[in-house]
Formats: sequence, C-alpha cells, structure tokens
Amino acid sequence: MIERNTLYIDGEWVTPSGGEPITVIEAATGEVIGTVPSGNAVDAERAIQAARRAFDGWSQVPIAERADVVSAIAAGLREREDELARIMSQEVGTPLAISVRVQVGLAASVFETIAQAARELPAEERIGNSIVIRVPVGVVGAITPWNYPLYQLAAKVGPALAAGCTVVVKPSSVAPLSNFILAEIIDGLGLPKGVFNLVSGPGALIGEILSSHPEVDMVSITGSTGAGVRVSEAAAPTVKKVALELGGKSAFLLVEGADLDVAIANAVRGCFVNNGQTCSATTRLIVPNEIIEEVEERVAALVNAFTVGNPLDAAVDLGPVASAAQHKVVADYIEIGMTEGTLIAGGPGFPDGLDKGYFIKPTVFSRLSPKARIAQEEIFGPVLAIIGYDGLEQGIEFANDSEFGLSGAVFAADIPTAVSVAKRLRTGQVSVNGGRFNANAPFGGFKTSGIGRELGHHGLMEYFEMLSLQFPSSDDFPTSGDFGSTV
Ligand code: NAD
Repeated sequence: MIERNTLYIDGEWVTPSGGEPITVIEAATGEVIGTVPSGNAVDAERAIQAARRAFDGWSQVPIAERADVVSAIAAGLREREDELARIMSQEVGTPLAISVRVQVGLAASVFETIAQAARELPAEERIGNSIVIRVPVGVVGAITPWNYPLYQLAAKVGPALAAGCTVVVKPSSVAPLSNFILAEIIDGLGLPKGVFNLVSGPGALIGEILSSHPEVDMVSITGSTGAGVRVSEAAAPTVKKVALELGGKSAFLLVEGADLDVAIANAVRGCFVNNGQTCSATTRLIVPNEIIEEVEERVAALVNAFTVGNPLDAAVDLGPVASAAQHKVVADYIEIGMTEGTLIAGGPGFPDGLDKGYFIKPTVFSRLSPKARIAQEEIFGPVLAIIGYDGLEQGIEFANDSEFGLSGAVFAADIPTAVSVAKRLRTGQVSVNGGRFNANAPFGGFKTSGIGRELGHHGLMEYFEMLSLQFPSSDDFPTSGDFGSTV
C-alpha cells in the first residue's frame, strides 16, 4: 500500500487543503494499492503562485544549466526504474517488460533528448536590423492522462523546465503514483522552490483552474478530445497558449503486394500495445477486399495467441485495461461491434479465469463499414476494426475518413509506394513499412487529435515565446551576442 498524504508545492511536501484522498486501484485485481491527496482550489492557487514567484529566477538560469537539471531527472528515473515500472504495470495494466522499456525507459529518454535539444538550440536568429531571441513562455499547467502517466508528463515537464518555464502538474487520478516519485527525484535535485509543483485532484477542478487562471501562461493537456475542448474553452478568456494532445483512431493501411507476414505482425502490435490503451494505436486495419479473408485468418491467429493475464507475470502479452470505468466503455463497444461487424477473435465477457480486475478479451471485428461506430470512435482498449477497400484511392479515402488525425501506418510492397500513400494521410505521423516511433521527431495531431507538437526540438520550441530586439541597424549588433533564452 502506497500512501501519499502530501502535495509538492513551493519546494516542500505540504498537507493538502482538499478532502478525501483519491484511491488508486490495481487494474489486474481491482484492489486498492495506494492513495494520493485530492487537492482543492486552495492547493492549486498556492502552487500557481509559487510557480509565478519562481519564474523570474528560473528563466534567467543559463539554458545549459537547465538542460543539466533535465538530464539529472532522467538519471533519477533510471535509478528507480524497477519500482516505477512495477507501479505503472499495476495502475495501467501494462505488461512489465513494456513498462520497463516504454513507461519508464521512454520517459527517461524524453528527458535526455529534450536536454540535448536544449543544448543544441541556436541562441539567436538575426533578421535585418533585428535579433530574435527565445524567452520562456512562463508558468505552465501540465495535465496528463493515465495510459502512459510518466512519459506524458516527461513530454511536458522536460521541455518546460529546459526552456526556463515553471510548472504545475496535475496527473490523472487513475495512475498518479509515478508522478509522486518524479516529484521526489526533482526535490532531491535542489531546484529553486516553486519551479516544479505537483497537485493531484479532479480534472474538473484542478484542471479547470490551471486552464483558466490568469497567472498560468500556457496549459498543455494530454487526454481525451472532450477534455481538450473543455481546456480550450476555459483557457480562451485569458488568451493563454494552449497545447492539446488528444484522442486518435489511427489507420493501418495495407497496400496490395505488401509482405503479409511482416505487415500483419506490425498491424497487430500497433493496435494491441499497452492493451490497446495507446493514443496513437492503429485501431483500424484497412485492407484490400481481395485479400481480406487471408488477413482475417492471420490476424485471428496472432491475436488468439496472446497470453492474457496479470501484467507482472513475465509470460503475459496483454494485461487488463486500467479501470472499472474504462472496462465498461470497452465492453460496451464490443457489444456494439457484435451488431456492426463480423467477430473474428475475442468478443464479450472476461477471458477464461480472469474475472477479477478489468480484463477484456483481445477482440477483432471485420467486414465493417468505415462509418461503423467502432470504426469511428476511440475505444481505448484491445479492439481492432478491419475494413475492406476496393482500389487504393478508396483505401486512402477510408483511412482519412476520421475526425481524428494523430497517427497511422502504411505497409506496401516497397518504400516509394508506401511514401506516396503516407504523404496523403491527414495525420501527424505515419509509420512507413514498419518504421518505428522516434522520440526526437515531432508528435501531435491534425483535426480533433490536437494542436501543437511534443518531443525533440519541435516540442521544446513550444515552450518559448519569440522576442524581437530591433536595433538601429545591424552595425549596432553586439559582437558576441549570445542571448540564449535568458534576457
Ligand atoms: P481524460 O480526458 O479523461 O483525462 C486527461 C486529463 O485531463 C486527466 O488528468 C483529467 O483529470 C483531466 N481533465 C478531465 N477533465 C478536465 C477538465 N474539464 N479540465 C481540465 N482537465 C481535465 O483522458 P484519460 O481517460 O485520462 O486518457 C485517455 C485519453 O487520452 C484518450 O482519449 C487518449 O487518446 C488520450 N491520449 C492522447 C495522447 C496524445 O498524445 N495525443 C496520449 C495519450 C492519451
């Protein structure tokens, strides 16, 4: 049992003003494994004011020193890798090996790559009689979801701190525990007080305050499209910068002639990673009608071979979904699927012997209309929708027939063909013939999948404002003008 009774505000662990704590449930058993405070408006206000006071000083620390702090956070996470991975497997249901590699490893490498991007950032740009420098945006509110709780936070806190911003973090109530360890690591680095603050609590309260508060200069949320819309609305009156990383329903477009062994293995992995709880999961498999039967057989064989069970068991490929609420959402979509398509694997009910916790059978429906609800709506669980197409133009049309545009994949017989298709997908990133995720490449969505980009150089740039210094003429420029991001 992990009991957290305090919030991290203004460089100290403080008793919250809020009421009843939030209980954290183990996804595989439904049992309580921890509690965290439910902060209230007083706590949020204290954290925002602390971040405001800290901003002036932190923004003037040289960027190379701030980058060193961000690297040190990565090192701290790696030191506590086992503990962190276990906690997130319990909270989210992620199989332990993936938890080590992705939940912790990717989070640490995001801090590392952001530190490197900060070190490599050109200090200034000269345009005519102007020198353009970058200055930090200010106080940042960071609101995160439960599916990759540490990585999502890394993608905000890393660039914010490197850029010279101060932050108030609001983690998801479903999977908050890793964020408290992150706060401990940051506390151990002895940052100036108020640079980093952590306030757990309800999104509708703490998230709304961070979004609407006039002293918060930027709010960045990763979450559902509904929450992102709400954040945008709440942020509008104060005209703050808003970054949105939202939902997805990404297409895996299989092109005639592709190597089916490799392509289908990729497609199945792309959908079911982290038990389908991945915003960029390729949950729509769009295939030529000529080969749909063969695709169905291959997909069913791979999906039926998954070992489903407790994510702490090394033999397990697929764990439960994170919460009772999420279990109900996914189970309801499976019932809808039964009326919309042909079931080729899984289906309603618990997997054999797994009726405690929030397990779902890995499920595949085929012969779906591209307009079917389970082909259009984000399910966020282990459910794949197969859609047949006639002719590549129709395949591209179906792939783009979505309100979302976060991710996608194209698998063709050769790379040039795959690229010619990938360029036409209205989405933030596309895997070309199995190309892997790159933590340095910009990540973010088109359409209702979001606004802005995270990760690498582009993700770092989101946390700067540009300041143009106009000189009488370029002859008046300082000779060694290293302004960096400190004015
Ligand atoms: P969610 O929208 O329920 O919650 C996300 C966060 O927003 C939580 O911290 C929540 O407390 C907070 N929140 C809720 N209502 C709010 C409000 N009115 N104002 C401010 N904050 C509020 O999402 P979730 O269920 O935790 O996560 C799953 C969703 O996140 C999926 O839709 C998934 O696609 C999306 N997601 C997107 C990305 C991406 O990078 N694009 C990554 C991971 C998850």
